[in-house]
Amino acid sequence: MSPRELSNAPNLFLKRFSFIAVLSSLVLLLLSGFASFKLYERYVLRLAESNASNLAVSIMHAHREILDNALAKPFLPNDEILHLDKTLRAFLTPYGILKIKLFAPSNIVVYSNDFEIIGKGAVGNKHLEIALSGGRSSTIQTKDQVHDMAAENRFDVDVVESYVPMRDESGSVIGVFEIYQDMTEFRAEVNQGVLLFMVGISIILFCVVITAYIFMHSTARKLLSQQHLLEQLATIDSVTNIYNRAEITRRIEAEWERFRRGCSDEKGFGILMLDIDHFKQVNDQYGHQVGDELLRYFAHRLQGELRLYSDLGRYGGEEFIVLLPEVSEEQLMSVAERVLMMVSAEPFQINGYQIPLTVSIGIALASHQDLNPDAVIKRSDEHLYRAKEKGRNCISAAQNTAPAFAV
Ligand code: GH3
Ligand code: MG
Ligand code: MG
Repeated sequence: MSPRELSNAPNLFLKRFSFIAVLSSLVLLLLSGFASFKLYERYVLRLAESNASNLAVSIMHAHREILDNALAKPFLPNDEILHLDKTLRAFLTPYGILKIKLFAPSNIVVYSNDFEIIGKGAVGNKHLEIALSGGRSSTIQTKDQVHDMAAENRFDVDVVESYVPMRDESGSVIGVFEIYQDMTEFRAEVNQGVLLFMVGISIILFCVVITAYIFMHSTARKLLSQQHLLEQLATIDSVTNIYNRAEITRRIEAEWERFRRGCSDEKGFGILMLDIDHFKQVNDQYGHQVGDELLRYFAHRLQGELRLYSDLGRYGGEEFIVLLPEVSEEQLMSVAERVLMMVSAEPFQINGYQIPLTVSIGIALASHQDLNPDAVIKRSDEHLYRAKEKGRNCISAAQNTAPAFAV
């Protein structure tokens, strides 16, 4: 992972967390909404089924004779059908029953509010078969699914359709009731219940996600600032506040890669290797603390002069490197001359002392003959020692460089 990717990692993590949190909240919300709807629906079905069973038992008790008669004669005469219809309607109306059918064990419709289907068979009706074998079976049907209610007064309603067995005293199934109960109000209640449940879940999820986000956000901020601090510690020299040796070397390597990929020899990158002259004497004369302060101030003055077009790093004790990307030999030399003059132009004021300084500078321009960036650094170092040998406060460069102060 590159340093840039690394420093972006907390933000990326936060973005991914937000995306996953929102997505999983939505999925959770939908799933819980669906589950609660199914639970409510199941509850309504069981309730309607048990109502239907109780009704079936009550009808059996109240009108046993009429029902026995109907079941015994699959094709009832009209007057008996009318009598049965009147009796059942009178019995069922108070219970909110919309429609009722009575099946004989032979699957034949013995009675229905819709007289036209009396005598017809219902072979293949699974619910009927369940009820005939002693079970109960119910389904919820919404307005648009109910097809055989057109003849009823209240037909534009949601219904629970239940098949419940009719039993004699011995418990044997002697017929089946198909009962339609109005559940429009129930449905509205279910919808309201599910909606309330989902609103509740949404509020809880929102609070959890926001709390987690705030926590993650502050952790990511802390992480970023720690990372920034670590980055600073890893790249900045603590005495002079400029790049340390590792960072300036890394920048030279990066510049070398760029140079290798395409720059011409005339516009390669250049290095100035600077060493303060007789710095030991400063320490000896004024003390190490003043020496440190002087190094800091020296770096500050140098950076003020060079910041716009170069990188400055502390390479060792009182040695510094200036890295200039895409410079010609002439430009490199003119920068070196400026630095040389800028250092010696006026003494440095530290703790009330006026301390005059000079530097020696070695110059090297990257060339395609160099095998690696170290070769360029080494060359600038060699020239620095040459400048020292020649008496200090001067610049040393390769033969073809044309310095005013060069040796
Ligand atoms: P020359 O002109 O040959 O470079 O002489 P010089 O005295 O500068 O070189 P030398 O290598 O003899 O001494 C370097 C001195 O720099 C010695 C050391 O105490 C001092 N120095 C190196 N790092 C620091 C630092 O961080 N703080 C202080 N105060 N002094 C330092
Ligand atoms: Mg020195
Ligand atoms: Mg030195």
